[in-house]
Amino acid sequence: MPSFARVLIDRSEGRELDYAIPAELRDRVCVGERVIVKVRNRRALGTVLELMEHSDVPGIRLIEGLVGNESTLPPVMMRLARWMADYYCAPLASVMRSMLPPMLRGEKIAGKKIRMAELSGMPPAQEYERLARKAPKQHAILERLRIATSAIPVHELLRESGGSDASLRALVAAGWIRLSEVRSTASPGDGEQVLPGRIPRLNPDQESVVAVLLEAIGGSDDAALQRPFLLHGVTGSGKTEVYLRTLGAVLESGKSAIVLVPEISLTPQTVERFRARFDHAGGGGAGVAVLHSHLTDAERREEWMRLQRGEARIAIGARSAVFAPLANLGLIIVDEEHENTYKQEETPRYHARDVAVMRGRLEGCPVLLGSATPSIESYRNALLGKYRLLELPKRADGQTMPLIRVVDLRLQGKRAKSDGGLSAPLQMAITKRLESGQQTILFLNRRGFATSMLCEQCGHVCRCPNCSLSMTFHRDDNRLACHLCGHTTTPPERCPECRDPGIRHSGLGTQRVEEGIRKAFPSARIARMDADTMSRRGSYADVLGKFRARQIDILIGTQMIAKGLDFPNVTLVGIINADIGLHSPDFRAGERTFQLLTQVAGRAGRGETEGEVIVQTFSPASPSLQHARHHDFAGFYEQEISFRETFRHPPFARMLLVRVRGVSPEKTSHAAAAVAKKLKGLAPDSVEVSDSAPAPLERSHGQYRFHVILKSSSGAVLGKLARELLASMPLPDDVVMTLDVDPYSLM
Ligand SMILES: [Zn+2]
Ligand SMILES: [Zn+2]
Repeated sequence: MPSFARVLIDRSEGRELDYAIPAELRDRVCVGERVIVKVRNRRALGTVLELMEHSDVPGIRLIEGLVGNESTLPPVMMRLARWMADYYCAPLASVMRSMLPPMLRGEKIAGKKIRMAELSGMPPAQEYERLARKAPKQHAILERLRIATSAIPVHELLRESGGSDASLRALVAAGWIRLSEVRSTASPGDGEQVLPGRIPRLNPDQESVVAVLLEAIGGSDDAALQRPFLLHGVTGSGKTEVYLRTLGAVLESGKSAIVLVPEISLTPQTVERFRARFDHAGGGGAGVAVLHSHLTDAERREEWMRLQRGEARIAIGARSAVFAPLANLGLIIVDEEHENTYKQEETPRYHARDVAVMRGRLEGCPVLLGSATPSIESYRNALLGKYRLLELPKRADGQTMPLIRVVDLRLQGKRAKSDGGLSAPLQMAITKRLESGQQTILFLNRRGFATSMLCEQCGHVCRCPNCSLSMTFHRDDNRLACHLCGHTTTPPERCPECRDPGIRHSGLGTQRVEEGIRKAFPSARIARMDADTMSRRGSYADVLGKFRARQIDILIGTQMIAKGLDFPNVTLVGIINADIGLHSPDFRAGERTFQLLTQVAGRAGRGETEGEVIVQTFSPASPSLQHARHHDFAGFYEQEISFRETFRHPPFARMLLVRVRGVSPEKTSHAAAAVAKKLKGLAPDSVEVSDSAPAPLERSHGQYRFHVILKSSSGAVLGKLARELLASMPLPDDVVMTLDVDPYSLM
């Protein structure tokens, strides 16, 4: 029996130390085991990488204890971790940590219970008024609870209402408020009544897709297992039903499955659909476990444990659910595979879709990627035969795709441009909805971060001659820069196209847009939903609940409302500022705009009445808009892939983004230039290395940010280069360098 173990220490980048295994632990310690050890004189956590018969380390120390069996990574996950560490140039320890929920990393001691409060009744009007005068804090607490749709955590309640513990106690004593504790074993969704779902009939398209999938799942054809499926189904084509049928077959064969869904689509509505099919009494104890970031650590741990114990065999979750501890995996589904939130924007910077494909390969289980707007990368893989393409070309309900109207903002008066950005056609359309009691969703592109130079007279955008990306206007030093290749130039005084001097002052902040809408429709009930206003747990469900109950006429939102929501009474979707997305300095700008428009259009007219989508833009001829308008994915793909090929953007080259950030602009810029120089020295001719350039978002969180971008046809060459850079690049203490393989956020 092996008596020694090589342990990777958590907190020290890549440090591996040997320890002796105490006799009483020898039959328990295995590879992947989380252990407690001493490094110098401090306790540390680590993971066993290797078991050994011998060790010649003098004075070797003993392993002090085990973190617990729950946190052991099985061999296949260890292999996946090694692949990720290698591919994403990330420390193995950080990869392994990210594979476990926080509480199982052994870093936190037991989770605490959370006190929840909800209304048990409202005081009579007279009493309520008295409270408003005599006990404003109690009144504020009741006010807050009155608009909640379910119990909310006490600490949040007090923070938001400004109430005190004493006032809360008084209300509890008076019988208006009920307190409870969230059991640490509570599964999110416990207490909801889930009815067995009615199983809809499949249409012929769905039937043939399901048949292919069932064959792959039941078969032992290894070649099929090595080749992921890409399901391209238009919005409303019934992809979810395909997932459900396929999952049913997986469960029947005694296996388990993972379903990845982007965080913002992981709504109670989505989860309910899965639970309704698999969680009821007749479900054969299959059980659904949900993993997402809004769970408390204790809840997340409990869901994890249910999967590990086999009490739940389906894991639904966002990005990190790709690591769900399921044995005997029979299928991994990645819904909305094009979503860039699958990319983790902190170390390790992995892409959950790509990790899913790799896990499927290691586990020998089929992988199903689905989307209405597949990513360019995945669709190309399908056309090249690396993925197997399945298609659902029609809406399942037989309805026509909604009509998309493009409003040319160049033709609208100055007022529309400055005053909230509502064009006359969009105003009229909203008015019509308000009059007939139908609802409107207005889509604002994320945060008012407009850095491109756009002429509002003719729609001209300043682009880089090398990369064709829109160039970023840096106001401070009056410079236009392409941050992809480093090309810079002086910004024009007038529009090069139409000579209009207004080109320098374009771009509407989202704040102003919202104000404009409120002013234009003073009597409408308007709510806003975005990452800033929705950071609190539960507020998302609150607003959606009200919108569904038709207590809100106009919902203004960002990406969050573009996904998977189903509101039959919404007949109008307006996109206020399509240009911000269209001209963001990113080679995926066109792809993202196409995806967004398609998704947003899919939200309109899900009910009886036909939907309408209005897109406002200064660039009505843009191919992304025009192809989206005609619901033409193939046309969009052809145009986009030739653009990528011409300028050698991914997938025609692999990309590595080196970010350099620091507090001092001089030091940081200097360090970035040194990094670029170093890389140019190290790189073979086949690798393109850009000059260092300020990031489009030049300053953030008080730090200056610079980019160096590498492109190569070989990922392996880039990886080797990245490791050489890490090993040989000295940087000042207050400058930080990070590497991002296959970057998605180029800001
Ligand atoms: Zn360029
Ligand atoms: Zn112009």
